[in-house]
Amino acid sequence: MKAEIVATGTELLLGETLNTSAHYLTGKLSSLGIEVDYHTTVGDNSGRLEQVLRQAIGRSDLLVTTGGLGPTADDLTKELVAKVLDLKMELDEFSLEQVKQFFGRRRAPMPSGNEKQAYFPKDSKILPNPIGTAPGAIIEKNGKTVIILPGPPFEMRPMFDNYAWSELQQIIGPQAIRMNERVLKVFGIGESAIEEVLGELMSLQNVTMALLAKRAEMHIRLVARSSEETSGEAKETLNWAEEEIRRRLGDKVFGRDQETMVGIVGENLKKKHWSISTAESCSGGLLGAALTQEPGSSEFYLGGVVSYSNSLKQGLIGVSHQSLESFGAVSEEVAKEMAEGIRSKAGTDLAISTTGIAGPGGGTDEKPVGLVYIGLASPEGIHAKKFQFYGERESVRQLTVQAALNEVRLHMLKNERRLQLGDG
Ligand code: ATP
Ligand code: MG
Repeated sequence: MKAEIVATGTELLLGETLNTSAHYLTGKLSSLGIEVDYHTTVGDNSGRLEQVLRQAIGRSDLLVTTGGLGPTADDLTKELVAKVLDLKMELDEFSLEQVKQFFGRRRAPMPSGNEKQAYFPKDSKILPNPIGTAPGAIIEKNGKTVIILPGPPFEMRPMFDNYAWSELQQIIGPQAIRMNERVLKVFGIGESAIEEVLGELMSLQNVTMALLAKRAEMHIRLVARSSEETSGEAKETLNWAEEEIRRRLGDKVFGRDQETMVGIVGENLKKKHWSISTAESCSGGLLGAALTQEPGSSEFYLGGVVSYSNSLKQGLIGVSHQSLESFGAVSEEVAKEMAEGIRSKAGTDLAISTTGIAGPGGGTDEKPVGLVYIGLASPEGIHAKKFQFYGERESVRQLTVQAALNEVRLHMLKNERRLQLGDG
């Protein structure tokens, strides 16, 4: 099955809005084994939209549209799909009731334009919209399938996942080939080094592997193809491949699929009932921001300081004048004193510090741009690690945050191992 995604909306063409829906839907369709051949974007213009829809119906088996389901005159998607498929528009009483209730709940009169949202091409299967007023639809005609989804991503995604997905599964049938996917997330090793370590695994028959370099981590994407009936085997293949990769890369694998570095660090801190504080220089508060990203972070994160200047490093967390003078702010000694200083001020189990040269200016031969020290203070002592990152300012800052979180993760892993050895 060959698919095309047609995103409508002039704001997409103006570059005001990034077409994230095409990205989202392509991932979903791929995992169903449906090949997406075209992404088309068109403005809210009836002539051009009709032309795009005709072309798409002509060359693709499945057409997924987003946007243009609103109540206003420039929302034309359903009407034009009906025209192109040579279908009449029909009122769906149930949808009309839903739209009325939507306004009823808000104690607002229904604007007359909203009635339009209850009209669909004849024989449409309606896809409910629990969040907004615009239902979507699936239409099958002459071996072609059209899925009509709303524009706002927060309405489009649940509609696709909760309603369109199962309809599509029925349409493609149990024999169709799906992509069973797993993503392993890695930090602290580069693309070519991973390739070398994985070696022959990279060219297996039953599971394909691809490396994707993200800003501050690497992703290894594993795909095993199967039909619905053989999906159990595919899962076992993925389990085996994951185990083998973890065996080879060890602690460098920090998570999989939806897991994030900061999520994993937070979960582990919570499990251990450990608290943490931060003293940041080059990351300028980004580490604190990352640690407070998830709800519930107050269970482990007490807070920290952004001590960007030498005077605040001294005044707030007691870094010594002598260390700043003899080693400079970007040094192992200062990183250690920052971590130690905030740990004793905050009274936390752990403390983490960052100091480095984010660039683009400020680098020297001895201390080039991208040089970062990360300090970690714990009941077991204080240490600092040196990193040399490459890339523009934002990358260096993001890598600093990720590396700092990774230091915390590694420290907790070590601690667990020690406990296990002690127990054994
Ligand atoms: P309504 O007019 O009722 O909002 P609609 O279905 O016509 O519904 P649009 O007006 O096209 O939706 O888009 C609504 C919002 O969703 C806008 O903020 C728009 O920028 C955003 N949006 C639309 N299409 C996309 C897309 N492909 N990717 C990301 N955001 C999108
Ligand atoms: Mg619109």
